[in-house]
Amino acid sequence: MYVELPFEELKPDTRKRRVAYFYDQDVGNYFYGTGHCMKPHRIRMTHSLIMNYELYKKMEIYRAKPATNLELTQFHTDEYIDFIDRVTPDNLQLFEREQIIFNVGDDCPVFDGLGEFCKISCGGSMEGAARLNNGSADIAINYAGGLHHAKKSEASGFCYLNDIVLGIIELLRVHPRVLYIDTDVHHGDGVEEAFYTNDRVMTCSFHKFGEFFPGTGNLNDIGIGKGKYYAVNVPLRDGIDDASYKSIFEPIIAAIVDWYQPSAIVLQCGGDSLSGDRLGPFNLSMRGHANCVNFVRSLGIPMMVVGGGGYTIRNVARTWAFETGICNGAILPKELPYNGYYEYYAPLYELDVRSSNMNNANSREYLDKILTQVISNLDHTKHAPSVQMNEVPVGMDLDEDLEEDLPESLDTKGGSQRARDKLVEAEGEFYDADEKEFGATNISNGYSLSESEKAEIEELNKQIV
Ligand SMILES: [Zn+2]
Repeated sequence: MYVELPFEELKPDTRKRRVAYFYDQDVGNYFYGTGHCMKPHRIRMTHSLIMNYELYKKMEIYRAKPATNLELTQFHTDEYIDFIDRVTPDNLQLFEREQIIFNVGDDCPVFDGLGEFCKISCGGSMEGAARLNNGSADIAINYAGGLHHAKKSEASGFCYLNDIVLGIIELLRVHPRVLYIDTDVHHGDGVEEAFYTNDRVMTCSFHKFGEFFPGTGNLNDIGIGKGKYYAVNVPLRDGIDDASYKSIFEPIIAAIVDWYQPSAIVLQCGGDSLSGDRLGPFNLSMRGHANCVNFVRSLGIPMMVVGGGGYTIRNVARTWAFETGICNGAILPKELPYNGYYEYYAPLYELDVRSSNMNNANSREYLDKILTQVISNLDHTKHAPSVQMNEVPVGMDLDEDLEEDLPESLDTKGGSQRARDKLVEAEGEFYDADEKEFGATNISNGYSLSESEKAEIEELNKQIV
């Protein structure tokens, strides 16, 4: 069943997609602590590359409204949110019990501005989802998101709040079925757990398995109850290269999309699956990693791209910038433009992250076994082919919201995108009042479907065998 596909030059899908990119200039200032390998600064480095490659000419740039405590409790417990909101390095001694309960400490330290950082991360994914919901964007990007290990009331693996789960909850207001794909080197356990008994979200994680954090994500973990067969795990060994990854990723995702027919996809682009990562043992080049983005984009389904891990930060910035190009249907040239962090890219000052000559411990037999098992699991629950995606209910305020992106309305917001982005970069004051309202309105309504939406989704669900 497994056929190794040659890894050739990436061919971008050039069909036009409206891309909404979320960035908050404060995000790079948060600091996990000396010696901690999670560095939010990489998001600022990514942004600098994106701007200097002039991708602002191709997409809309937004600063999301930070999520509110109330919005965060759509997934997390009140007690946990209250703790994250209040705890600081200075008052830590008041929370001795909570630190243990909520697993805050070494891996997940309390740092200055922790609550704000989490709210920026979650706000971007929630507003990104809201933009996909109302049809004003085809692709939403939030590199401050992707924090897939966070649990309902527990921090884990450098993640505190799960922006992905919150974004998916927002998508579920409109979309009957959402597919979550995780290409981080670590298992996407927090997202899987949140939807493990749910058939409206299918999770699919590709990750290193075997004596590796967080230890979950075995091939046999496929969901339970109503969610049985709606969790897919692809456990991989060290050193997987571009060709092997492509050859397992593409047929699995194609099969899932074929029978599950999601109407929205969330793609977690953790950069720790790149070759040379400080923590990850995979051997993907930038292009091998970006092939996942290109492949998912080519499916033509509304998609949210979020960040995730990634600990050799110059390579994370390179790859996420390149992937932003892919989202916009462009292949960025190899020569790096001058940018605010140019010295990080010495000595070659090139965009590419290359593979190394490390051994690939994933034999063809091993990958064949995985692929066969995954496809066989999917086969158990094939949907009726009659499910038509054009019956998916669309957002309620579609017409009103679409007006926002007409050229005339853009003009009234202060001229060109470049001018607007300068506002973001200069003062961080780029909030369009209307957009803020629109995102806030959608999100604060919470996860509640109207009666007509419920009826439509029920009708769709009846068609599912
Ligand atoms: Zn990771």
